Amino acid sequence: MKFQTAKNVSLALIMAGIMIGLLGSITLESGTSEYTFSFITMLVLVGLSLLILFVWGKCPKCKKRIFYQVYKYKKCPHCGASLTGDTKGKKGAAKKK
Ligand SMILES: [Zn+2]
Repeated sequence: MKFQTAKNVSLALIMAGIMIGLLGSITLESGTSEYTFSFITMLVLVGLSLLILFVWGKCPKCKKRIFYQVYKYKKCPHCGASLTGDTKGKKGAAKKK
């Protein structure tokens, strides 16, 4: 997965997780199984998102993990490489999952 893709996917997951969590806490009565389910779904989505960031949230150039600052930086804080997608030069050397 590309850095940019990982970033978008994790952002979407976090958004979905927060939405579900918020909707659940607003519309569902606490203590019900639906409420618990929405809460767990939120945790799972946010957890997945963090996992994606953890696994794929790396600089495409120096492979250093960026993680927390993923949404903040457009350039790698370590080596200054662009994080916004186009890595000039090598195009998809080995397809990594
Ligand atoms: Zn870097």
